Amino acid sequence: MNNKSANLAVISNNTFQATKAVNLDHYDISSALQTTLEFNELIAIFSNKIANKIPHSAYVYINEEFGLEVKSGVFTRHSCNYALKTEQQQLGELKLMSNHRFSNSDIALLEGLLCCLIYPLKNATLFHQALKMAYTDPLTQAHNRNSFNDVIKREMSLATRNRQDLSLIFFDIDHFKFINDNYGHDCGDSVLASSAKWIKESLRESDIVFRYGGEEFVVLLSDTDADGAKLLAERIRSSIEHHTIAYGMDVIKITASLGISTLRDDDSIDSFVKRADNAMYIAKNNGRNQVVQSK
Ligand code: GH3
Ligand code: MG
Ligand code: MG
Repeated sequence: MNNKSANLAVISNNTFQATKAVNLDHYDISSALQTTLEFNELIAIFSNKIANKIPHSAYVYINEEFGLEVKSGVFTRHSCNYALKTEQQQLGELKLMSNHRFSNSDIALLEGLLCCLIYPLKNATLFHQALKMAYTDPLTQAHNRNSFNDVIKREMSLATRNRQDLSLIFFDIDHFKFINDNYGHDCGDSVLASSAKWIKESLRESDIVFRYGGEEFVVLLSDTDADGAKLLAERIRSSIEHHTIAYGMDVIKITASLGISTLRDDDSIDSFVKRADNAMYIAKNNGRNQVVQSK
């Protein structure tokens, strides 16, 4: 198998501008790439625009920073790979595949045309980094409260439209004030970050964890009924109980109380969240470190 691989060193802005001015292909591709900031669309446009110059049967684009893998076409024997980057940023890896071995002139042409993709990919990266910052809680890397309001609306209408279940777990660390008071706020912060990590580790990739308030998290479980949510909440509770946090010379153990609600036809956002919140309070009153399902 012929597998060519290279790092595409980046061309300075000046070189790129000069090349663009004298090369109509570059101009055509660059214009098309200016129409979107979505990675999958950029790669599809690029593949489409170069198809008649560099025939290929498939492409794969992987961007680890954003957890993306975009694939299209028929996978065949020969491939060439490029790690795309600027001086400061990784922009992902692009692989093109073909039935035929890529010739040296194909490769030279492709490397010239890849210059057009670098800056649009960089703009897409900056845009998505900014978006991510806007919806991420910096301490725990969970989604923040602002994003909760948008996402729950979207998930509730998706669940209703597709006639799918949607469940919500309300999670509150037990006696968290005691940790802050006895070990200090830095330790409290570290407990929050660890809790978010353990919650995420107990879930599927598609489940979304939000920091709802100080030491409260909400988990949205799409396509999950009451029994499934109970199982997951119990898994989270047990994971929190069985982990320890080393803080200086201290070893800290924590527990949490969890309440669950499952979407009903007549639910508003408030009623859906409130049922899980109430169930969490029942768990507190029943002695903490437990899961309660709303009626
Ligand atoms: P309960 O078992 O009833 O939930 O008791 P609790 O102590 O966990 O609950 P309480 O609501 O009394 O205390 C929550 C504490 O969380 C009080 C507040 O100072 C603290 N807190 C809120 N946000 C943060 C934060 O970002 N970092 C730290 N370290 N503490 C925080
Ligand atoms: Mg609380
Ligand atoms: Mg608490």
